Amino acid sequence: MPDAATRPGLRPRRVPQRTCVGCSSVTAKRELIRIVRGLDGVVRPDPTGKAAGRGAYLRADRTCWDTALKKKKLERSLNVAILPEGREALVAYAQELPAGAPA
Ligand SMILES: [Zn+2]
Repeated sequence: MPDAATRPGLRPRRVPQRTCVGCSSVTAKRELIRIVRGLDGVVRPDPTGKAAGRGAYLRADRTCWDTALKKKKLERSLNVAILPEGREALVAYAQELPAGAPA
């Protein structure tokens, strides 16, 4: 009879984590917003996290989005050039987010 500590049902559940492209902090995936490079090559926010394509993650903090866009971290992470339209969509999305404390 296995003792309680080794029963599979009692294993601690691992929370999936991802790195924020903006500030490089590792955060629970559910607290991050996915950015996807779609199959059409267009980069867009993917709040559902389900769109097909290569994804990158950003915290729901405008500062992280600003950093990721300005320093081209998002482009590097997704390995794609973000066109002006795509950039505008990301900036517009970021403007709806709360701004964190200045770094
Ligand atoms: Zn961040």
